[in-house]
Order: sequence, then structure tokens, then C-alpha cells
Amino acid sequence: MRKPRESSDRSRTLSGFLAIRTPFPRARSSNGLPDCLSTFRRLFGVTPDQAGRNLKSSVDQRQADGQLGFRERLVCFRGVMQQLWTRRIANLSFAPRIVPNMALETLSPSRAGDFKTCPQLFRFRAIDHLPEPTTVYQARGTTAHLALQRLYDLSADQRTPERLYDLFREAWSELRTNEEFTELFGSVEDERQWGLDSLALLANYLRIEDPAMVEPLARELDMLEAIDDEIVIRGILDRIDRLPDGRLIITDYKTGKAPPELYAMPAFFALKIYALLIRRRLGETPAEVRLIYLNGPTVYRIPIHASQLDAMERQLRALWKAINRAIEKNLFPPRPGRLCDYCSFRDRCPAWAPAEILAG
Ligand code: SF4
Repeated sequence: MRKPRESSDRSRTLSGFLAIRTPFPRARSSNGLPDCLSTFRRLFGVTPDQAGRNLKSSVDQRQADGQLGFRERLVCFRGVMQQLWTRRIANLSFAPRIVPNMALETLSPSRAGDFKTCPQLFRFRAIDHLPEPTTVYQARGTTAHLALQRLYDLSADQRTPERLYDLFREAWSELRTNEEFTELFGSVEDERQWGLDSLALLANYLRIEDPAMVEPLARELDMLEAIDDEIVIRGILDRIDRLPDGRLIITDYKTGKAPPELYAMPAFFALKIYALLIRRRLGETPAEVRLIYLNGPTVYRIPIHASQLDAMERQLRALWKAINRAIEKNLFPPRPGRLCDYCSFRDRCPAWAPAEILAG
């Protein structure tokens, strides 16, 4: 277990939340492109465009001969990165793009849910791999998951509320210097408040269950299971418990606000897939899946039966086929709905672009 770091002047400004020595977020360019270009120039002495032109003929030839070297691969990769940045900045994403000739290799429960909800959203995430802005809510989710995972590394008598809060502080101390998180907060006070709100969420969690009474079978379980020769599902399961009566329970932590029960059912879709994967791995049907919304707190649970998992297996086969058909035809129709209000890609989504362009 990692030791807490030393306190410093900065600890006073984050008092009540963090007591660590960590530099303020580094100053960065507003869009990242200059950093990307200067790194490239420093590495190779030329711009990505020049490198691309210089190498194109020899790369083509050597690629055909199967002799592409590491340096050339790296240059090509950097060139692609530069193009991506340029496209992002120029906001040219409305232009139709060709989906590379690819077939699905693995599918995660989350991306399966995306395709069901909105094929265009699936494309943005799983095919185009477009970056999404990191939010304070995602930072909270990542940090809370890490703290809860580590809590259950400890013996039952050590799983106290204070230890959980410390684990959250330690986890954030490690994560906050990651590039994706360094520009999240406008001020130290914002970060401090975020930290205190996060600790309040963890206090909510402790109202739901006593960690000393839980003995998880596994946490953050990396699952990679083949449904058949073609279909491979990959995902990370938050937690699975074996209750004293022998039943298996799958748990998913959510740090966002709980939807009304009526709208919670789609959130169970991914959990039912995990239940299916567990059945394939352990040869046993979990008894229940449950969603713990720390913000509330609220717990939603549904019992699981073998017939539900049989149906899920059929549904996954159909979904896999539908996704491959969509890839083949490059057809990912947008399906506007409530989710659009929270979608990171709304400004480039065909369902919304015309109205916005007209308005602009
Ligand atoms: S904005 Fe709405 S329709 Fe467009 S991709 Fe996002 S969820 Fe789908």
C-alpha cells in the first residue's frame, strides 16, 4: 500500500481534502497542437508534413517489401497524430469520412450499450476513437473506483471510513498530475470543494453497506470471454461477491446521479452482459446484479435467471451482426434522444449539425 506523501504549503490551500506535495497543473498550450508539432520537430528535425513527403516513396516501397522500420512507423504515427489534431482544431468533422475496412475484434458492454442507444455515438467512440473532454465527474468516478478497489485489498478490520477517505486522497494525489486531469479545475478552491464533495459521496456509500461485512470474490475484474468463435466480449467488472448463502452478486458503482427507477433499466444492460460472462467463466448464474449510485445514495437491483442470460446471449449475437453490417456499409444512423443533452459529440453529430450550422 502506498504511503501518503509529505505535506507542504499547498496542503494548506487544500485543507480538509488533500495534504500532499504536488505541483500546480503545468501551463499548456490551449489546444495541444503546438506541443505535438514541437515534440515532433525536436525528435525528427522536420515537420510531420516534410517527414511524410520525404518518406512516402521509400515507406511505400519498404512496406510493400515488409521492411518498414521502427523510425518510419513512428514518423507515420506522428503524422497521423498531427492530422488528427489539425482536424480537431479546424472542426472539419462534419465531412464524411471513410470507415477503414475492419471487422469487430472485441466488444465491451459499454460500447454494446452505445450501439443500442445510438449507432452514431458508437461510431464516434468505437470506430473513430474521438477523444471526449474529461470532466470533474469522470475524475471523481475514476478516483472513487480506485479507492474502493483498494479498500477491499485491506483486511476487514482496516476498512474504516477514515481509511476509505485516505485512500481517495491518495488515489487523487496520484491521478491529478495525469495529463487528462491537470486542467480540470479553475482554482485550488474548486479542486478542494470537488474533493470534499467526493468524500461526501463516499460517506453515502458507507450508509449502504459496511465494508467490513463484505468479502468480494474479485474487484475490477478484467474479463475477456469468447461467446463463440467470432464474438469476444471485453470489459472490467467493478465487483463480484459470494454471499454467505453461496449466491453470486455483481455490483457496479456509479458516482453520477441516479436516474428515476423507470429509466434505470438500460443501465442494467451492461451488467447483464457481465452476468453472462461470469456464467461462462464460472459455470454459474449470478443471482443478482445491482447498481450502487453513491450520489443519493440509491441502490437498484434485479434478480438474474438463466433464461435472461440465454436471451442476452442471443441479443449479443444479433448486435454483433448488426455492428459488423454497419461497419461494412459505413452506416451508423444517429438516434437523437435524452442522451443528446449529455453527449460530447453533439457539435459534430449529423442529427444536430444542420440546425447549428443554420443558427451559426
Ligand atoms: S448527439 Fe445524440 S444522436 Fe448524436 S451521437 Fe450523440 S447521442 Fe447520438
